[in-house]
Amino acid sequence: NRKITLKRYVEGWPKESDLELVTTKEKLELRGEKDLIVRVLYLSCDPFLRWNMSKTQDPYAPPFAPGEPIAGYALGKVLLSSDPNFKEGDIVSGLMEWADYAHRYTQRPNSLTKVGAEGVPLSYYLGILGMPGFTAYAGFFKVCEPKKGETIYVSAAAGAVGQMVGQFAKAFGCRVVGSAGSPRKVDLLKSKFGYDEAFNYKEENDLDAALKRYCPGGIDMYFENVGGKMLDAVLLNIKDHGRIAVCGMISQYNKEEPDPIYNLTNLIKRRVKMQGFLINDYNEDVQPEFLKNVTEWYKEGKVHYVEDLAVGLEKAPAAFIGMLEGKNVGKQSVKVSDP
Ligand code: NDP
Repeated sequence: NRKITLKRYVEGWPKESDLELVTTKEKLELRGEKDLIVRVLYLSCDPFLRWNMSKTQDPYAPPFAPGEPIAGYALGKVLLSSDPNFKEGDIVSGLMEWADYAHRYTQRPNSLTKVGAEGVPLSYYLGILGMPGFTAYAGFFKVCEPKKGETIYVSAAAGAVGQMVGQFAKAFGCRVVGSAGSPRKVDLLKSKFGYDEAFNYKEENDLDAALKRYCPGGIDMYFENVGGKMLDAVLLNIKDHGRIAVCGMISQYNKEEPDPIYNLTNLIKRRVKMQGFLINDYNEDVQPEFLKNVTEWYKEGKVHYVEDLAVGLEKAPAAFIGMLEGKNVGKQSVKVSDP
């Protein structure tokens, strides 16, 4: 079996040499009751994994120990099972080690669910129909408290979460503005995901001026994926009673010192509601509605999905770091083996 392990704790930007592909000689045998052995099909490169690579003890993102395999959201096919709820051949989604073959992940044994629907490619269960799609759904419909006709601004808009937020917002009846870090991504926002306006934030010296240009009436809702200077510029453009759904702050994850934020007093003057959220809080009550609606919308052609697939377990470290650098166009996943 091959696994990707954390070689050393990461400080600052991760390097490929912080992760290591190791070959083990372990026998693939079930370990007691309720174990599974799955052949891993796809791995998801998610930004939160960067938190688990830091030495800092954080109850929300406990660190992997050096030498320990990376574990994240993945899809696999059951080979062996001692759990009556799963049988050989089932396709399962949940937390798994980054490996060719993975046991049930003992730290979150209940994360596994069976997935699969006719007409939907399996890898989509890591994106549009998986954790990122669900984050976009709960973040937009439950945290943003949208009203038809309002303007929403989405950062990292062409990524796994951002592409879905924009499409949900457009279908709901909002004016949708997004930013991303390359001309190709900006083009996708307008041509594929239905954004009304989109811009490349790397080409803007003055983010405040850019937001005033693309959101001339101000911003009712900000779907925050990046933090830092972008958040500060949004605080200058948010409208009275605006809402900020704080999903992520990826621009800060590799920094030793966070960027200062200067315009927070606008939260008071403009009576803005700013709320951080973690998708795990929404699992039970919103998941069934999300899966039903988004599967339907996808099949009806109402929402689209773009993924960026690297091929081969050994490509996972580069794919993960590339995602943090913005090299991914759409959701970054890794294909490990054929279903
Ligand atoms: P993406 O697919 O959007 O990939 C990350 C993107 O972030 C890159 O492609 C890059 O795009 C952008 N980026 C990287 N560095 C910067 C920077 N300094 N400034 C601006 N943009 C940057 O990732 P996801 O969709 O998976 O995640 C998006 C956000 O959502 C992250 O912050 C993540 O932590 C968060 N998240 C939160 C969850 C929750 O439960 N709260 C669950 C899932 C995700 P570009 O080319 O545009 O720069």
